Parts: sequence; structure tokens; C-alpha cells
Amino acid sequence: MARLIDGKAVSKQIKDELKETVADWKTKGIEIGLAVIQVGKDPASSVYVGNKKKACEYVGIRSESYELPEETTQEELLQLIERLNQDDGIHGILVQLPVPAHIDEDTIIRAISPKKDVDGFHPQSVGALSIGQPGFVSCTPAGIIQLLKRNDIEIEGKECVVIGRSNIVGKPMALLLLRENGTVTVAHSKTRNLREVCKRADILVVAVGRPRMIDASYVKEGAVVIDVGIHRNENNKLCGDVDFESVEPVASAITPVPGGVGPMTIAMLMYNCVEAVELSKA
Ligand code: NAD
Repeated sequence: MARLIDGKAVSKQIKDELKETVADWKTKGIEIGLAVIQVGKDPASSVYVGNKKKACEYVGIRSESYELPEETTQEELLQLIERLNQDDGIHGILVQLPVPAHIDEDTIIRAISPKKDVDGFHPQSVGALSIGQPGFVSCTPAGIIQLLKRNDIEIEGKECVVIGRSNIVGKPMALLLLRENGTVTVAHSKTRNLREVCKRADILVVAVGRPRMIDASYVKEGAVVIDVGIHRNENNKLCGDVDFESVEPVASAITPVPGGVGPMTIAMLMYNCVEAVELSKA
């Protein structure tokens, strides 16, 4: 039976550590501020935004909320971002994705000051990660590294397979595992013999965006399996990209959905907000 990797517990541990740092900054007269912008009323986005605000409250970060109507123009959004870029009381800016189709996501990501890019999506942040320089790291993959480390799962020298090559999960995940001296393979929709590739993995990170696609036939006995996916099944219950019931008996450790990777994403957003204060001083 696999060990359950408890993302809720690790996330709380990280938030409790950050709470102390945030309180320290307060004694020095600095209150950390995060601006959260949502355009439109996508229900899933509203849940994520709500959870981010709750985490801010817990850690002691001031969150400023901008709930803009669906019809907001790109120009209006850019003007708001520019104003927040100049605002010394705001250390992090987050635009909840996806934005409505009439707004160009890349333009918005680039408009956020790299010093306030707490999502780690700006090309400057991504570039810094790829050449091993300090900078903001995308929250979900950064959270996965913390999950592994804080569960004493060694990465160095291990065969790591990441399924998915998105800019926010798969690619930064691969770079972070490489930074930890893993031997990294990135699999994607054009990969041949996906099962054989996955079966090599000591650590298998699944970010494929397909409910319960990865069953035991993809997993080596004793592998560590990290499930990034979030979906609702036919009974409206949350499930991941991994078929948990099938994989759990084969793996040595596995993240559940919910309660695995999800809570880590928010904890690392809080971490990045604290980092942003250091950057604002640089
Ligand atoms: P995405 O759709 O942008 O990328 C999916 C990737 O999977 C693509 O690179 C594609 O090449 C690959 N892929 C698709 N079908 C495949 C197949 N049949 N075989 C092999 N590879 C295939 O998704 P994403 O943004 O990277 O997110 C992945 C999953 O993680 C989604 O379920 C998403 O909801 C979830 N997610 C969770 C969190 C969290 O906080 N837990 C954060 C971000 C994303």
C-alpha cells in the first residue's frame, strides 16, 4: 500500500512558517500586499480566488481584490496592472487565468512587473529559472518540490518523468527536477510508447489534464506518483489525472486528489508574496 503524501499538512506547515516571517515584516512596518484580479465570473476561478484570499488572511498578507466585469477591455486591464505596478503597498499581482477570449493572456502576463510576478509566469521569471538564477517559480511545480522534500523523497539521481509540457506546470516542473539533479524526461501528447516511458520513472508527475488517464499499467512498482490534475467526475466529486484506486497498490507514495498538490499551489503563492518583499528592497 502506498504512503499518502499529505499536501494539506505540508501546506499548513509552510503557511505557519510564513506567518512568522510576515509578522516579522509587520514589526518593521511593512505589510505585504497582494492584488488579485479576476475578469468575469468563471465559477472555478471564483473558487480559486476565494481560496487565495483565505490563505492571505491566514498568513497575514493584505489582499486587494479586483473583480472586473467580463466586458472589461484589455486596455482597462493593462491600466489597472500599471497602476498596481507603481503602488508601493502592493508586492504581488495576480491575474486569475483564464481571462476572457478578447484579452490576450501573453500581453497581460508580460505587463506585470517581474518584481511582482508572484505567479512566476513572466518570461523573465521563466528565463531565470531555466538558467538557474533566482526568481519567482510557478507555484504548482514549486509546491511539488516542497512536497517531495518535506516527505524525505530524494530526487537526486532519480528517473523523473513529467507527463505534460504546459508553461505553468510541465515545463517548470521539469526544470525544477533537473535543478534537484533528477534525470528528467518530459512526455506529452506526441510521445510514443507513453506507458514504457512512464514505467521508467522513480518519480512520476502527471499533469496531463485528462481525468484518471494514468492507471497502474503506466507505473513501476514502488514509484512515487504525483497527481497534478483536478477534475470533477460524473458524481461531481474531485478526481485527478491518476486513477488512484488502480495506482495506489503499485506506488510507494502517492498524492490524493483533493488534498495533495492543490493546497501546495496556494502555499507557494504565499511564499512568493513574501519573496516579493525581499525583491522590492533590491
Ligand atoms: P494543459 O492542458 O495546458 O497541458 C496538458 C499537457 O498534457 C500538454 O502539454 C499535453 O501535451 C499533454 N497531454 C495531453 N494529452 C496527452 C496524452 N494523451 N498523452 C500524453 N500527454 C498528453 O494542462 P496544465 O495546465 O498543465 O494542467 C494539467 C492538469 O493539472 C489539469 O488537470 C489542471 O486542471 C491541473 N492543474 C492543477 C493545479 C493545482 O494546483 N493542483 C494547477 C495547475 C493545473
